[in-house]
Amino acid sequence: MNRRKIYEGKAKILYEGPEPGTIIQYFKDDATAFNAEKKGTINGKGVINNRISEHVFTRLSHIGIPTHFVRRLNMREQLVKQVEIVPIEVIVRNVAAGSLTKRLGVEEGTTLPHTLLEYCYKDDSLGDPLIAEEHIACFNYASQDEMQDISAMALRINDFMCGMFSAIGIRLIDFKLEFGRLFDGDFSRIILADEISPDGCRLWDMETNEKLDKDRFRRDLGGEEEAYQEVARRLGLLPEENEADVLDMEHHRAKKGK
Ligand code: UDP
Repeated sequence: MNRRKIYEGKAKILYEGPEPGTIIQYFKDDATAFNAEKKGTINGKGVINNRISEHVFTRLSHIGIPTHFVRRLNMREQLVKQVEIVPIEVIVRNVAAGSLTKRLGVEEGTTLPHTLLEYCYKDDSLGDPLIAEEHIACFNYASQDEMQDISAMALRINDFMCGMFSAIGIRLIDFKLEFGRLFDGDFSRIILADEISPDGCRLWDMETNEKLDKDRFRRDLGGEEEAYQEVARRLGLLPEENEADVLDMEHHRAKKGK
């Protein structure tokens, strides 16, 4: 198809959308970890993440969180509103894991006394360094008002997602959010952007503590395809039976070069 590629990231490609102010997000199967030092593919990941992200963004919009999501177009693509991405990754943590355990020597799995918000500066060449709100103000990455909106939304999103996942036997350990500025003339407002999927969340089975997220890939635990499918299945996004068929069909089509 003849459309302009705007940007290719690690897990997604962005294309110009059909109308001005819109963008198409294409979800790839490519997976990276450790600032892209480790590369691989998780078969069917793009299809599942497209579906999970659609589901979560739609449900968040129902509780009044403004998002860039417009509609899903097909198995791997969704239409979203064009925004100017705020160059900050917002990390929301309920339980210690990942970089927090390394940085502060906290044991993995320690429940935090309250939700912890962290900010990283979005810059691959610097390895997305952790920054304080003072850096955000100092270098004008976002205004005070925007940070108010971002932090309030992040906490509401966390509350909602903790409930959504606990209803299906999953503990939401931590996750990453990105926000964007939606312009209306000279004014802009903050809306939720990017994606929410097991690529950017830590999800543990409540009973077994089994990891159902990208840590399976990061740590070479195996079973990453199944883990992503399991999250989608529990969210009710795959038919109970023949859940693999969708992916098989897609795989088949891809092979035929369509
Ligand atoms: N995360 C992400 N993209 C990043 C960094 C982190 O999606 O560039 C997510 C990650 O999947 C986890 C949470 O944010 O759910 C916290 O990640 P952490 O800071 O512990 O970094 P990591 O251990 O993943 O390097």
